[in-house]
Amino acid sequence: MNLHYKSTRNSDRKVTASEAILKGLAPDGGLFVPEEIPKLDISLDELKDMTYQQTAYEVMKLFLTDFTEEELKDCINKAYDSKFDTEEIAPLVKIKDTYYLELFHGATIAFKDMALSILPHLMTTSARKNQADKEIVILAATSGDTGKAAMAGFADVEGTRIIVFYPKNGVSKVQELQMVTQKGKNVDVVAIHGNFDNAQSGVKAMFEDVELAKELAGKGYQFSSANSINIGRLVPQIVYYVYAYAKLLANDEVQDGEKINVVVPTGNFGNILAAYYAKNMGIPIEKLICASNENKVLFDFFESGTYDKNREFVLTTSPSMDILISSNLERLIYLVAGQDSEKTKALMEELKADGSYTITEDMKERLADFAAGYADEKETAANIKAVYEETGYVMDTHTSVASYVCRSYREESKDDKKCVIASTASPYKFVKSVMTAIDDKYEGADEFSLLKELQEISRVDMPQAIQEILDAKVLHTLECDVDMMKDTVKGILKI
Ligand SMILES: *Cc1c(COP(=O)(O)O)cnc(C)c1O
Repeated sequence: MNLHYKSTRNSDRKVTASEAILKGLAPDGGLFVPEEIPKLDISLDELKDMTYQQTAYEVMKLFLTDFTEEELKDCINKAYDSKFDTEEIAPLVKIKDTYYLELFHGATIAFKDMALSILPHLMTTSARKNQADKEIVILAATSGDTGKAAMAGFADVEGTRIIVFYPKNGVSKVQELQMVTQKGKNVDVVAIHGNFDNAQSGVKAMFEDVELAKELAGKGYQFSSANSINIGRLVPQIVYYVYAYAKLLANDEVQDGEKINVVVPTGNFGNILAAYYAKNMGIPIEKLICASNENKVLFDFFESGTYDKNREFVLTTSPSMDILISSNLERLIYLVAGQDSEKTKALMEELKADGSYTITEDMKERLADFAAGYADEKETAANIKAVYEETGYVMDTHTSVASYVCRSYREESKDDKKCVIASTASPYKFVKSVMTAIDDKYEGADEFSLLKELQEISRVDMPQAIQEILDAKVLHTLECDVDMMKDTVKGILKI
């Protein structure tokens, strides 16, 4: 049976999975969603003995039904190989009574690698299947992690180019170095004088620009997206929630069918939406707990039913969650609106015009699977220190937001189900914030000396990704104003 995809803003046209991956965003500005969320067709008991790659196949084959078995397995094997520093790909680490699902063992030591190491292969396979003859130009906006992970994934992949925009003062030193030292003849990186939302809006505007698309086509190019709005990003992320539950079962941490809670440090709402899809596929998850930093637009939304981005944008120590427009929420809105594309479109138009919208009471009731919390800067830092002192485990700032929210959720709700925390970055990536959280004596220290300190206190070896940038050459220095993004792209592509 073939599963088709529709736009959240127009249900008339259906496309195949490979078409949706190739296009990224629907032509009406909506996001592609599967007509229905498929159920797993094997038992948890069978899943429990599978490798990550085998689990990936069992999950992804249900969504990407127009891929042959050979095509899909080929993509999976190319993605989840020795680029990851552990055979488990996504190890589940038990610290006291909580499970940390470590999603940062890939090339750029953050969870974006989980999807971005496979997306280029899904995309070039999709292009082949659809006889697309144009060179694919990936445009991406990044709050730090996506950009590098996308560049690493697409670097020197035949038939593709990639241009990444990041906020000049909105990413960590390590993140910036990772990006500006990226090799690959098809890779460009631009620092914009603005914040992540400016970068994201600029990229979205280019995708919706019909004139620009025509100009590109004339020169043999077509845009696609590696941002988490691409269904080819979302589907691979479902895999690790299935894998995590299977591992809990295999390790006798849960009984078959026992419900767990999942806590996800959230920005663009892609990772937690993948967990929601996993639940709907049949994984026994009770609550999806959405953890925000001080940019708590999602927390307020789950509390009140009003999404309101009209507020101050705060730069925090968890920059990959410094987001006021969570693009993937549109897919959840569409579901709780009863797959009503007209209603979804109207709300998203309100968001664009006024910066806010309010859902109906009916819709709000359908959000019962979700809980939400947030951690401010002090709480995030204090939690890193407390867990380190108590257990020796060092976590990064994003993971700490989730870990704090997990603890306060448990205290307030008295819900004592087992909790899996999505651990989204290596502490090495945010070393300055992590080390000063543990001891303020590190405040004046430079980021690079701290990497060594971290290695000593955590007893976890410095990842390859960090060693590489220590003496790599800066290859990219391009900067531009927010209103010059389109001209910059034209300049790079020489059109
Ligand atoms: C991207 C990112 C997040 C947020 O994930 P979303 O899918 O955008 O909600 C959290 N932590 C880290 C380290 C990230 O890179």
